[in-house]
Amino acid sequence: MIDFEKSKDYLICVDSDGSVFDTQEEKHRNCFAPRWIEVFDLNEHYQEAMMIWLKTNLYSKARGINRFIALEKCLKQIEEIGVEVKGLMGYENWILLSNELSDKALMEQIRKVENECLEKALIWSLRANRSFNMLVDEVKIFDNVKKALRFADKIADVVCVSEANMDTLEKEWGDNDIRKYVKAIYGQEAGIPDNTIEKLIAKGYDKDKVIMIGDSPNDLEAAKANGISFFPIVVGQEAESWAQYIYEASTKFLEGEYKGEYENNLIDIFEKVLE
Ligand SMILES: [Mg+2]
Repeated sequence: MIDFEKSKDYLICVDSDGSVFDTQEEKHRNCFAPRWIEVFDLNEHYQEAMMIWLKTNLYSKARGINRFIALEKCLKQIEEIGVEVKGLMGYENWILLSNELSDKALMEQIRKVENECLEKALIWSLRANRSFNMLVDEVKIFDNVKKALRFADKIADVVCVSEANMDTLEKEWGDNDIRKYVKAIYGQEAGIPDNTIEKLIAKGYDKDKVIMIGDSPNDLEAAKANGISFFPIVVGQEAESWAQYIYEASTKFLEGEYKGEYENNLIDIFEKVLE
């Protein structure tokens, strides 16, 4: 955050997974879930575990949540079907008390405390990262995103604010030739999006001139917590959402007419899809 300089009146924060990239399904089905089943020895319950993971991470209000919180939610559900997860309580304590939920923070905790669940969580997270790197050729950018970012970059300071890990983000934005449209990328190492946005606003933006674009309830929460606007990328209608942003919402945002009825309607539609 130290090297970030405000250069325009408007600030646009954009999430990455599920908003810019069509990666949610792919990452969860082929990276997070199988590595979870492998590291936590859930092969005997393969189908149930897979279902728990996908339902929680793709089709519930937990969509897009930090991976370590997602893991906690899924491990609790696994315990409910009768599988013991050793050390889960210690893991839950870490989630509750750590002010950063990242590989690095987890590694520091493991240096201090001996706990099987913490260790497995780290192995799982690192293996998932490695799996993403093998997926990269298949990372697909949603239609209309490039156009939207190119336009946004001309009128606003644009930053990526995500819960994903920074190396993966830099690689995906770089590989897809859109890194040039954002001033900075803030991933899980920068802290939770709520705090990242707060620090960005503190660079001198008027809250009425700041918007968050995202696909998950926690993106919406981060916007609400900071009193800024939110533009939803609707699951299953991502390209249409971006087109609506380009041709309608962005003008309203720039003219100060976004907040209120227009924004509330968009958020209603977004929330219905994730119910
Ligand atoms: Mg997302």
